[in-house]
Amino acid sequence: MEYNKVTDEVVKKLVAICGEDNVTTSEPLRHSYMARGIMGLEAVLPEAVVRPANAEEVAKVLVVANENLSPVTPAAGGLSGGFALPAIEPGGILMDMTRMDKMEVDVENRVMIVEPGVKSGDAWRIFKTNYPEWAPPIPDGAPPAATVLGDAIERGFSLVTGVYGPQADMIMGLEIVLPNGEMFHTGSWALPGAKPFYRWGVGPNPDGLFLGSQGSMGIITKAAIKMVPHPHFKTVVAYGGETWDDIIVPAWEISKHEMGIGERTVMVQGGNYELVMTRWPKEKVPIDYEFYKKIGVDKKWMNYECWAWTQEELDFTLKGIDQVYKDYETKTQRLTPKQELHPKQVASRLKKPNKIAIPYALWQAGFLFITWYCPWLESPKMMEEYCAAMANHGFPETMWVASIDHARQAIVMPILCFDSTEEGIYDKIREFNLETTKSFLKKGWINYRPDPFVHAPETFTKTKEYYKMLVKFRKVLDPNLILHPGRLAIPWGSVTNLPNPYEE
Ligand SMILES: Cc1cc2nc3c(=O)[nH]c(=O)nc-3n(C[C@H](O)[C@H](O)[C@H](O)COP(=O)(O)OP(=O)(O)OC[C@H]3O[C@@H](n4cnc5c(N)ncnc54)[C@H](O)[C@@H]3O)c2cc1C
Repeated sequence: MEYNKVTDEVVKKLVAICGEDNVTTSEPLRHSYMARGIMGLEAVLPEAVVRPANAEEVAKVLVVANENLSPVTPAAGGLSGGFALPAIEPGGILMDMTRMDKMEVDVENRVMIVEPGVKSGDAWRIFKTNYPEWAPPIPDGAPPAATVLGDAIERGFSLVTGVYGPQADMIMGLEIVLPNGEMFHTGSWALPGAKPFYRWGVGPNPDGLFLGSQGSMGIITKAAIKMVPHPHFKTVVAYGGETWDDIIVPAWEISKHEMGIGERTVMVQGGNYELVMTRWPKEKVPIDYEFYKKIGVDKKWMNYECWAWTQEELDFTLKGIDQVYKDYETKTQRLTPKQELHPKQVASRLKKPNKIAIPYALWQAGFLFITWYCPWLESPKMMEEYCAAMANHGFPETMWVASIDHARQAIVMPILCFDSTEEGIYDKIREFNLETTKSFLKKGWINYRPDPFVHAPETFTKTKEYYKMLVKFRKVLDPNLILHPGRLAIPWGSVTNLPNPYEE
């Protein structure tokens, strides 16, 4: 697949569609978009940036891109880890969706309708002021500039993910501009005038093709997303442990009893002491565990953020959690002490969007989140293997884990803190990524937010049947393959030299 460069003539056409102020080829401005993709290790500089105001403009830009065979990459907050940046050369047109930032809230049908530019921080603020009984499912730890829709497209994890599942599960309907410029509506929105009340619509429902596509199947211009009730009796409790099992097994006991106390543990997340250490500059803090032990940080711990309608209900929940830990201690003869959290720690966790994940860049400037899903009870094995590989490659063993949908799945996330100026560091990271990816795929674990150069080709090499169908779908929707090419290893040759499963 050969793509053409964005010529002056193409830029003129883009200006005619979006206006002079909303199209740029300025090099510093194009670089500023790279800076927002803070974790994009191998992204390419876009050639032009456009900022459409509505779906009609999006469609017209896509028609121009098809005529010129220029790649188009959609970006919202640009905080998904560089994945909102072009994967291949030439970089083509980056479509910045942030001008489209309208939001409607339908309390009766319990959905919010968002355009792609609605930021998590703004959604939270508007709900807090105008709809305090409801909460928008924003990503729990992402910066306020990350968007509600970006997280759904990513199938990310929200502040209520422990109960409601991945963010994409909250979708009720999508408005999409397909790569050839055609409009398409999913769910009950397929029927003009209908409310977005029924996700499966006139059926069959293809919305899954767009969620997890990382912007390679169509540009979503509007989404209806479930909003959730927001009870105000809240707290966070934490329990420590020595091993991963000590934090994972009791959390499973608590979460698996759906419709019980598990319904009030909206966010269940844990990690190890390195999570504390790597939030400070490396040369400013001790790296020996003994120091953290003295200040009351357990080697590993699990946090439970609980939401309840009354104090009584909250107390009942906390008592239930405590009992599970007592039973675990009796059964295993292990120690899982309740951690004494400072009110400031509780307040900072309850603050939304919380900013807890942002300071990892302080350790050594570079940081990378890598995210995998696995069955909950298999997560200790994954975390042990990940930590060993991190130590082996000279990275601190910074590890985070959260329950998705009542501990049906674990989202396991190592945070690679690295010195971005170290020579050869990006090759080292790729080696680490490749080694762990090969091993994890054999164990049946799945990466989410795949790196196009490592996870996508390695995964699709093992899932040939799936990949072949994916390419067929993509060719139907996007015959010229202009939308975010490379992101799902389509076209294959643009990101890897491995044998192409489609041609085998
Ligand atoms: C410090 C930090 C903490 C984080 N914490 C969390 C967290 O708690 N939970 C979580 O789930 N994630 C987290 N993330 C990851 C990420 O920020 C979120 O998933 C975020 O919501 C992505 O939204 P965005 O607006 O930045 O999307 P973008 O990065 O702009 O886009 C996401 C993907 O969707 C595509 N895309 C964007 N807009 C469209 C569109 N309109 N149509 C089609 N495709 C499109 C892009 O090309 C990209 O592939 C975190 C990231 C950071 C840096």
